[in-house]
Amino acid sequence: MKIAVLPGDGIGTEIVAEAVKVLHALDLKFEMEEALVGGAAYEAHGHPLPESTLKLAKESDAILFGAVGDWKYDNLDRPLRPEQAILGLRKSLGLFANFRPAICYEELVGASSLKPELISGLDILIIRELTGDIYFGQPRGRRVATDGHFPGAEEAFDTMRYSRPEIERIAHVAFQAARKRSKKVTSVDKANVLETFQFWKDVVTDVHKEYPDVALDHMYVDNAAMQLVKEPKKFDVVVTGNMFGDILSDEASMLTGSIGMLPSASLNSQNQGLYEPSHGSAPDIAGKGIANPLATILSAAMMLRFSLNQANSADRIETAVKSVLASGLRTVDIWSEGTQKVSTREMGEAVVKALTKTTKG
Ligand code: NAD
Repeated sequence: MKIAVLPGDGIGTEIVAEAVKVLHALDLKFEMEEALVGGAAYEAHGHPLPESTLKLAKESDAILFGAVGDWKYDNLDRPLRPEQAILGLRKSLGLFANFRPAICYEELVGASSLKPELISGLDILIIRELTGDIYFGQPRGRRVATDGHFPGAEEAFDTMRYSRPEIERIAHVAFQAARKRSKKVTSVDKANVLETFQFWKDVVTDVHKEYPDVALDHMYVDNAAMQLVKEPKKFDVVVTGNMFGDILSDEASMLTGSIGMLPSASLNSQNQGLYEPSHGSAPDIAGKGIANPLATILSAAMMLRFSLNQANSADRIETAVKSVLASGLRTVDIWSEGTQKVSTREMGEAVVKALTKTTKG
């Protein structure tokens, strides 16, 4: 099992170090190799995704990623900005399926801005298509309008598009994931207005014929955005396109109130994957030793389950995280009166300690 470890920028190095400690505590044999990515790679090599980092990522079974970015790079040309490294990895490795679970831990129910009864026990999985849609469609650009409301005016345009195989493969991912959960998929679209999403709905409906044991419903994206805050527990697996998924997965993640707790996985058709916390590089707290490493540690658990076929070890990590929370330890982002404030390192070490009490497979 070969893991590329790409800590990146800001708190990335601090939180990935803790996840690596947890992986080492599992008694599994890994080959882990670290490389620069993002702003750190730009400083050293003049590019956010150097050839050597991309080569390592391609040769590995999985990538454990921290976060990239810093305000100081905001004026660089777009292809040289740290965030381009993520897009480059997604594209080069064909990481088309993004898994973003939003799970509410009982101990953190109070961290949400929603009423406890709405989110207690929440466990949603948003599956976002990651390599198509309006984010990648061509043509795009700026030009002078020849029609529309203001002919002759400067305008900008993008292209929304999905091919049948792109929709089929993400629909299969969603139905298969649902089979391991409560066998329910909600496909989110905007079929009432967009041709692309009428096609999306038709193709998802076709693929569903192969999964008669899974229930499927369709929802317009505007309604889905409302229902996520009104009655979030009615969702289980949600599948949608790149842009709607971008927005809904952020909305769903904030239902739990704690961005430092949320892992993510982006997979290709060979189950090779990139695993990273849902948050960014948090330059405002970088270097202070206070970032929450749990989203990254939980991302490492997803990596063991999806790419490395080590479900038992993934369960052990998740159990250890729950027991650390139950013991009252909190980093500053999830701290509340009556709990004990700990640093990034102390939180990582507490998970390692709790891990030794879980059963080995
Ligand atoms: P952010 O997620 O980095 O931070 C938002 C807020 O959440 C900040 O107040 C931060 O301190 C806090 N926060 C984030 N993670 C935390 C953690 N683990 N523990 C405690 N608090 C945490 O988002 P931002 O501030 O909008 O962006 C900062 C930089 O990160 C930007 O350069 C942005 O482009 C980049 N970014 C990168 C990724 C990625 O690498 N995948 C994703 C999002 C943003």
